Amino acid sequence: MKIIAGPCSIESRQQLAAVVEALAADPRVQMIRGGVWKPRTRPGGFEGLGEPALRWMAELKSKHTFKFCCEVALPEHVELCLQYGVDAVWLGARTTANPFQVQELCAALQGTAMPVMVKNAPVPDLGLWLGAIERCSQATTGDVSAVHRGFNLYNNLGYRNHPLWEVPLELRRYMPQTELICDPSHIAGRRDIVAQTAQMALDLGFDGLMVETHPNPDAALTDAAQQLTPDGFAAMTASLVPRRTGSQRANAALADCRSQIDDIDHQLLQLLARRMDTSRRIAAIKRPLGMALYQPERWQALMADRKALAAELGLEQDFVSRLLETIHAESVRVQQEG
Ligand code: PEP
Ligand code: MN
Repeated sequence: MKIIAGPCSIESRQQLAAVVEALAADPRVQMIRGGVWKPRTRPGGFEGLGEPALRWMAELKSKHTFKFCCEVALPEHVELCLQYGVDAVWLGARTTANPFQVQELCAALQGTAMPVMVKNAPVPDLGLWLGAIERCSQATTGDVSAVHRGFNLYNNLGYRNHPLWEVPLELRRYMPQTELICDPSHIAGRRDIVAQTAQMALDLGFDGLMVETHPNPDAALTDAAQQLTPDGFAAMTASLVPRRTGSQRANAALADCRSQIDDIDHQLLQLLARRMDTSRRIAAIKRPLGMALYQPERWQALMADRKALAAELGLEQDFVSRLLETIHAESVRVQQEG
């Protein structure tokens, strides 16, 4: 398990040195992260210290065995990172969302051996994530990995960024060789749920973690609520339970559960096919009568009924809403087809 840790932003030489000193006690930390340029969503905040921060990284690198990494958002950032011997760079979420910008960064990375970590875009669009990874892989000879930092949805379920774990797992299906790192800090958005988010990533087979750590998080210039103190970080790493391969008995129980899941999925698909057939029949009734295919009152009543049932069954409301919305969209499509 690879761990990358460090402050959201590098704020001073002393702050960076303090964090590096504290993390030196943990042999699992291989790399120090630190924001050097902070492209903020809204103007007016702390925007990073730029070149001096790179100089402090280089100085500390000569005294420790750690590697150092930071975010790059512009080609000049890549040039400076190469100049100061930064060991790896990452593309931030907002950069991955823009293929033009990714392309510009790749032009600067072309022909280098710089390892690149690609964070997912804020929107759950797997194509953007895959595309940025592919572009970077064509540019650098260094390793290109994926960092899951969660998604900015309308309802984030108490997280800062909704984890939508199925998206990174789908990425893994497309790119099984690509190292998958979880950033539980930006997913959680608050210190108290960073450890459980990191554990979830471990349970899902992620290869590494990127965790924000600050000597005095409450006074941090960016992301104060989610950064761990060095002690909090040590407690988190100590609490992590590695994924076990499992005993024979456990494997048998697992195989049994998996076959049940297979059966259930087959039934779900058969039911869905029946539901779509029924939708087609409804369309055939509505069409000659000139009735609208989509009737908001009917949809609202249906949703309310299903949500009540979901609550009774102990199913997550948000999950059931998203599922029904997807089914409904397909049902409308099918009705239009006929
Ligand atoms: C960060 O790592 O500090 C950061 C800004 O992350 P993201 O690009 O995932 O929002
Ligand atoms: Mn941050």
